[in-house]
Amino acid sequence: MARLVMKFGGTSVADMERIRNVARHVQREAAAGHSVAVVVSAMSGKTNELVSWCKDASKHYDQREYDAVVASGEQVTAGLLAIALQEKGLAARSWLGWQIPILTSGAHGGARIADIDGSAILDGFALRNEIAVIAGFQGLHKETGRITTLGRGGSDTSAVAIAAAIKADRCDIYTDVDGVYTTDPRIVPKARRLDRVAFEEMLEMASLGAKVMQVRSVELAMVHGVKTFVRSSFDDPENPQPGTLICSEEDIVEQQVVTGIAFSRDEAQITLRRVADRPGVAAAVFMPLAEANINVDMIVQVASDDTVATDITFTVPIADFDRARLILEKAKPAIGYAALQGANDVVKISAIGIGMRSHAGVAARAFSALAEKGINIRAITTSEIKFSVLIDAAYTELAVRTLHALYGLDKA
Ligand code: ADP
Ligand code: ASP
Ligand code: MG
Repeated sequence: MARLVMKFGGTSVADMERIRNVARHVQREAAAGHSVAVVVSAMSGKTNELVSWCKDASKHYDQREYDAVVASGEQVTAGLLAIALQEKGLAARSWLGWQIPILTSGAHGGARIADIDGSAILDGFALRNEIAVIAGFQGLHKETGRITTLGRGGSDTSAVAIAAAIKADRCDIYTDVDGVYTTDPRIVPKARRLDRVAFEEMLEMASLGAKVMQVRSVELAMVHGVKTFVRSSFDDPENPQPGTLICSEEDIVEQQVVTGIAFSRDEAQITLRRVADRPGVAAAVFMPLAEANINVDMIVQVASDDTVATDITFTVPIADFDRARLILEKAKPAIGYAALQGANDVVKISAIGIGMRSHAGVAARAFSALAEKGINIRAITTSEIKFSVLIDAAYTELAVRTLHALYGLDKA
């Protein structure tokens, strides 16, 4: 008999009817004789509502209290699912992060899991044949005794981390799509479901905007070799489809050059005009941002004709846009630039594929395809298995569809 982790996202537990449907999926696996740990998200929309209440309560709210508030959504669904399972005559109980415990760092709002003691859950399997229903997204910072949360989308990470801790045979991420697609199927109806996707590719897709799995959950699955599937909770519980397996690249037989297209609206562009072209200027720009914990992503430096001054363009997370501009305005005397320009109506579009390692000119084809559609590229970055372009947000769908078709990803 196998040991399974089944994770259900917000839309899958959005109301009592859906929670009962989840209970049917869990019942199927329990009836097959498997030991099951279930991880649940809050009902869809709940976490957003809780976040907005914190913002309403104070502009500069205490991060520890924010975690106390936003962790509550998962407590409700864990309890309700345990009741729904009991209604089916199954032994089940809910577990909050601190009860297991799931120990995390003290970085409230985006804590990292440090350690999970799986023994209580394993005892429940062995001694009471009991299904564990675990509240996702939350943990405990042992040193302060405070509740933490793992960052938005963090229930995926709870699930994979628990799978690693209890040495589960499989971790199934149930969501509202039936697997990982070549791009967001909501944007591109011609997107295709992938049977398999390599850890490295999934990691890039998640980091570059595909929110189907939280980035850290993919990292953990890769490091601990957790056999992870993404599949749909809307399948018939009696006849579910396997979904997409996230696996090692060696396990993928037919490797495409480009596997997927991702996009992110979470970035903003900053351009410094006529920055002095001298050694140390890049440090003067980027050090104060680094000190303020602002992640700079794409960087483009353009030398002007006179070699006296240069333009520097880069992107920062949209949430840090205002802060970054304030810091750079303060640092203006030290840096010495003529003007600061910012734009937040931009989007980063990325193409990802392990095949890029062995194929030249993959990005170049995208540049011409985008140019043909009249889409201007503001910045470019490339690395071994991906490239990204920054463009005007108004062209998001056109650009994603153009690249999706260009690399032969459209379904017939
Ligand atoms: P959950 O609430 O179950 O965690 P999420 O909303 O976090 O679900 O993630 C699922 C969503 O991810 C899908 O509805 C889909 O719109 C989006 N998505 C983005 N990129 C992809 C992709 N490449 N493949 C599948 N889904 C994707
Ligand atoms: N409920 C949390 C969120 O909306 C965690 C999750 O769903 O994974 O971000
Ligand atoms: Mg999610």
